[in-house]
Amino acid sequence: APKVHAEKTYTIGTDVTYPPFEFANKDNKYVGIDVDLLKAIAKEEGFKVNIKALGFNAAVQSLQSNQIDGVIAGMSITPERLEKFDFSDPYYKTGVVMAVRQDSKIKGLSDLKGKKVALKTGTAAAAYAQSQQKKYGFKTVTFDDSDNMYNDVVNKNSVATFEDVPVMQYAIKTGTKLKIVTKPAESGNYGFAVMKGQNADLLKKFNHGLKVLKQNGEYKKITDRYLSTDK
Ligand code: GLN
Repeated sequence: APKVHAEKTYTIGTDVTYPPFEFANKDNKYVGIDVDLLKAIAKEEGFKVNIKALGFNAAVQSLQSNQIDGVIAGMSITPERLEKFDFSDPYYKTGVVMAVRQDSKIKGLSDLKGKKVALKTGTAAAAYAQSQQKKYGFKTVTFDDSDNMYNDVVNKNSVATFEDVPVMQYAIKTGTKLKIVTKPAESGNYGFAVMKGQNADLLKKFNHGLKVLKQNGEYKKITDRYLSTDK
């Protein structure tokens, strides 16, 4: 009799709305670079994924409490996180930028004294802003998702926000009324994360699949699907 290999299913946490990496499209289908990439890797490597849009901080917390197997959420590979998590090979470049309203005169961190900035809980951008807070003397307000954080600036409750450059650029391109005023800081990469020392198998499959998709053009096809300017 032929051997039947049941495909293993992994539960993977992600952000709710973090375009172009994960978001619900107009047909309410969950798509984005992270979603498409993970699905393509799973197909290539012969495993199944159950993708859960938990929100960024919640996804990271769920991973830490072993409720899920991995996180793919535009998650930056940082030295602090490498103490708790194992990351895949990098799959996308990022960095942290500051954005303000399009009519704002604020040009950088030195213009933030006594003002309020909007941050997203548990993110690398928030950690960066907090590391600069004493020096520049600003106040902060936090949100669990990027949309509400942007709106806080657009609606003039706060004067600036800190976000990853590919995500901020995409938001502005798709209509968010903000502008980027700083060069990217804390340059780094996104990676797929699992708990340290656990799920080495899954990580190995992810890395192998990523390599194949980069070689066969599928990775480029996926990123172009969301970022290509001529569409
Ligand atoms: N890249 C940022 C981080 O890793 C934000 C991720 C996100 O908001 N989904 O902290």
